[in-house]
Amino acid sequence: MPAKEEFVVTPYQVKGKIDYARLRELFGTEEITPALLTELRRLAGGELHPLLARGVYYSHRDVAALLRQYEGGHPFFLYSGRGPSGPLHTSHLLQFEFCQWLQAKFHAPMYIQITDDEKFWVRAGLTRAETERYGLENLVDILAVGFDPKRTHVFFDTRSIAALYPIAVDVAKRVNYSTVKAVFGFTPSTNIGLLFYTALQTAPCFYPSWAGGAPVPCLIPCGIDQDPHFRVTRDIAETLGYPKPALLHSQMMPGLLGERVMSTTGDVADNALFLDDPPKEVDRKLRKAFTGGRATVEEQRRLGATPEICSVYAMWRTRFAETDEKFAQIDRDCRSGALLCGDCKGELIGRVQGFLEQHRAKREKVREYATSLIVERPPPGAKAPEPRGG
Ligand code: SF4
Repeated sequence: MPAKEEFVVTPYQVKGKIDYARLRELFGTEEITPALLTELRRLAGGELHPLLARGVYYSHRDVAALLRQYEGGHPFFLYSGRGPSGPLHTSHLLQFEFCQWLQAKFHAPMYIQITDDEKFWVRAGLTRAETERYGLENLVDILAVGFDPKRTHVFFDTRSIAALYPIAVDVAKRVNYSTVKAVFGFTPSTNIGLLFYTALQTAPCFYPSWAGGAPVPCLIPCGIDQDPHFRVTRDIAETLGYPKPALLHSQMMPGLLGERVMSTTGDVADNALFLDDPPKEVDRKLRKAFTGGRATVEEQRRLGATPEICSVYAMWRTRFAETDEKFAQIDRDCRSGALLCGDCKGELIGRVQGFLEQHRAKREKVREYATSLIVERPPPGAKAPEPRGG
């Protein structure tokens, strides 16, 4: 991204106030139009996931073509992942909840990559034992959103390397140093693990085609900050004989303290709600969360609040307003001043506490089979298509 932009978005750095429309232009992606939403709704059996309906997923690459192929009898698979640098918070789950919805509506196999190697390379303070432990715990949380275990497969990088490596080797030969340097902003002090990592992140995009011996389209729902990884993937896909993956890009969730992204990097644990936070902690964190409210009750009643900058509103928008009518009511009452921030938070707190309690119960059920979904070896006879150009 040009240095003159006031915000920076790469897979390793997100800085400044993001202008999402401008970011889409800079990345050269397509807007999710009302016509595309209509197609998604129709093919999903008449429903639209709230993250689509409310514009959290707002950008894409080649999804219209993917849907046409799907309708023509070519099913796709889903791919998403997690870099295990710590416990998951509520925002991390959104992407997986969305994938689970897509899996159910489109009967799609799901591939989840746990990138314990990448997080070890990226975070100076993390040991391999920690990234492995977080990876296993994160996996249990991810599966607890309700993926169908019969159609869900996991790549846990340090355990799945035998399955991923043959594809990564083919990819690595076609991606040169100047490309990764330009795309990811690597410097002379970047370790060589990260230079290679984009090959490993690419491998699951091609795995079902490789393992099954026939091209299978891939759909990747991800934060728009991850788009650069998959630009590299898309650039080399066809030269290796694989379909270019399609992407659905989401905006990023603001943190509770008004940080632009719900991140816990550094000593800011109050910026996010962790899946293990007990009810009292949820109450404490949400009571101090940053809002778009006015300085006084009188002013808010008179002028209304500003939901666009409010972390509480973002939570209603993404998960906790269960219907579009409820979300429209929050939006309307917030802007008009009919709703005060204390009351708004009070209602949300109860919902978040209930959500976390249910999530923890589901987690214990998937724990017993989670590691059995890890793919350790490719199927016998898996063979890459003939690459174009040797
Ligand atoms: S009323 Fe609710 S949504 Fe509106 S600014 Fe206050 S906390 Fe945010």
